[in-house]
Amino acid sequence: MARFTLPRDLYHGKGSLAELKNLKGKKAIIVVGGGSMKRFGFLDKAEAYLKEAGMEVRLFENVEPDPSVETVMRGAAAMREFEPDWIVAMGGGSPIDAAKAMWAFYEYPDTTFQQLITPFSFPTLRQKARFCAIPSTSGTATEVTAFSVITDYAKGIKYPLADFNITPDVAIVDPELAETMPPKLTAHTGMDAMTHAVEAYVSTLHCTYTDPLALHAIKMIHNDLIKSYNGDLEARDRMHDAQCLAGMAFSNALLGIVHSMAHKTGAAYTGGHIVHGCANAMYLPKVIKYNAQVPEAARRYGEIARFIGLEGSSDAQLVDALIAELKAMNKALNIPSCIKEYEGGIIDEQEFNDKLPSVAALAIGDACTGSNPRQPSQEEMEKLLKCCYYDTEVDF
Ligand code: FE
Repeated sequence: MARFTLPRDLYHGKGSLAELKNLKGKKAIIVVGGGSMKRFGFLDKAEAYLKEAGMEVRLFENVEPDPSVETVMRGAAAMREFEPDWIVAMGGGSPIDAAKAMWAFYEYPDTTFQQLITPFSFPTLRQKARFCAIPSTSGTATEVTAFSVITDYAKGIKYPLADFNITPDVAIVDPELAETMPPKLTAHTGMDAMTHAVEAYVSTLHCTYTDPLALHAIKMIHNDLIKSYNGDLEARDRMHDAQCLAGMAFSNALLGIVHSMAHKTGAAYTGGHIVHGCANAMYLPKVIKYNAQVPEAARRYGEIARFIGLEGSSDAQLVDALIAELKAMNKALNIPSCIKEYEGGIIDEQEFNDKLPSVAALAIGDACTGSNPRQPSQEEMEKLLKCCYYDTEVDF
């Protein structure tokens, strides 16, 4: 038995933000980030549409990137005081992720993060409110997924929350909101989406329902991401849909060790954070080579390669063609080939090697490792991370 869960309603296309005026309820709280939605006028529009729907509206603003436990608790307190029956989360991944966690603490004030982090063990939500998500970046697809990541800065840990209870009720995928993304964010979030689709397609939990979504998302991202990065707004619009399709696939098929490695290297070094989408983009070609030692995985990478028009007379040739194509995409998007080159070399080589055993162990223990087609040993994970640092060949 497998479960496949998506939002009940999904509105997409230019102007779909206006669907907010058709929500039925009394009170809505809008959760937003640092100001771009306000600056570009989308927050005002959302507020006006909700008022047109006859709702009383309150704002919860300034959710920070990588939202904290404290922000979640402040948001939940604001919700308990205002008692909304709609939570409308708008912006990049961060405000939407934060709002998902606020929702749980609004409905269950006595729960704890320790209780919530056990995957698929949430209490039943929708006792007090329903949830509408409106993404402004084209990557995380949190508007359709069962996931949220909250950071406990005091303890220095991230809480990955996973439960179909936090899959939103309504998603509004309006490309106008994503047209405001700067090029670098476009590149990083776009390759995050590409990684979601590729990892979902070869995941051990992939199924007949997730495969077409993943495959089609890969084709769209392959066609449109570089154009979008170079300022083609029609391609940008299509990318907003493509990342959402990738999200539908991975919310149900889960991911693999590209994400495990990106999660655990992201904040591990004193030189600076390695941005999630950029880390995925750099690690994906290496992980494909590693996973392709498993014949079934090689066959499925070969299917991806053929589907996007690459050629080869064996699975091995198709795998190499796919790797070359992804590397070429990275290059066109000005994404470095390895951690050593990241942001002019901010990740110190000595520190990277000192921390290698612990980062590798944490990556193996990450929630995304279980569905990867090949299970890495400690030694293999250390080697793989080294290949990602130095851009050396994976030959094991
Ligand atoms: Fe991701």
